Amino acid sequence: MSLLAGKTALVFGVANDRSIAWGITKAFHEQGATIGLSYAGEALEKRVRPLAESIGVTFVESCDVAKDEDIQAVAAKAAATFGQVDILVHSIGFAKKEELSGAYYRTSRAGFHLAMDISVYSFTALAQAFQPILRPGGALLTLTYYGSEKVAPNYNVMGVAKAALEASVRYLAYDFGPQNIRVNAISAGPIRTLAAMGVTGFKDMYKHFTAVAPLQQNITPEDIGGTAVYLCSSLSSKVTGEVIYVDSGFSIVGMPEKME
Ligand code: NAD
Repeated sequence: MSLLAGKTALVFGVANDRSIAWGITKAFHEQGATIGLSYAGEALEKRVRPLAESIGVTFVESCDVAKDEDIQAVAAKAAATFGQVDILVHSIGFAKKEELSGAYYRTSRAGFHLAMDISVYSFTALAQAFQPILRPGGALLTLTYYGSEKVAPNYNVMGVAKAALEASVRYLAYDFGPQNIRVNAISAGPIRTLAAMGVTGFKDMYKHFTAVAPLQQNITPEDIGGTAVYLCSSLSSKVTGEVIYVDSGFSIVGMPEKME
């Protein structure tokens, strides 16, 4: 089955082969999508280009989502290359390392703004820039984490950012509904990526995870890729404004059986 044949997908957020965005890209490729990749800046190009080449992707554009001119440039390039776009994936998040340890109340004003700008506003900014070239029947997708709902120690400002991102998903879903564009988020369980390693205590949390999660298995970027295919294909044609958990069931457990 080629669930995405004839569809064009732009994926933002590949940093390396461990990135969730790369898991999604591979799944989209397997389902027959035409793909464009965008990465944060020159420093990542040497990692992203070979990955793109390995699956025959030629649209590979740098875009710092903190800059409106970068976003406009990549949208213009996508319009010129593809005409219309069916799928936009936002797999981007950032907070300064010093904001991801210790007490949340110590968050600086600048650190708060930066985390909200890169991790939340950029999804809205991309939606805004691509709105004129989104094909009806298409889908926007972002990545979130359970720290938006419950306190995950050290996740701090990112938890607040993810709560705002999930609210953005609902507002965007409302705005884009009449255009028949769906907007959803995947809430991923912990995966060992560059971004995750920036959170203090991540390794311990990662180990603890399988002892609590009903499926007793860690999450892989490929697991996220499968759900991304569902959320960006006609299989989910009436699903919008949702946060779908891909977390081995971790978030349904109120109290672990054994507490050490
Ligand atoms: P990653 O480090 O591979 O990806 C994060 C991406 O954000 C990188 O490609 C980075 O270049 C990009 N980025 C940061 N600042 C940017 C900017 N200014 N402009 C453009 N791109 C920028 O890590 P990941 O875990 O794959 O993260 C992807 C998404 O998944 C993030 O939103 C993250 O919060 C979310 N997520 C991750 C986990 C996990 O455990 N890894 C769990 C739930 C949600």
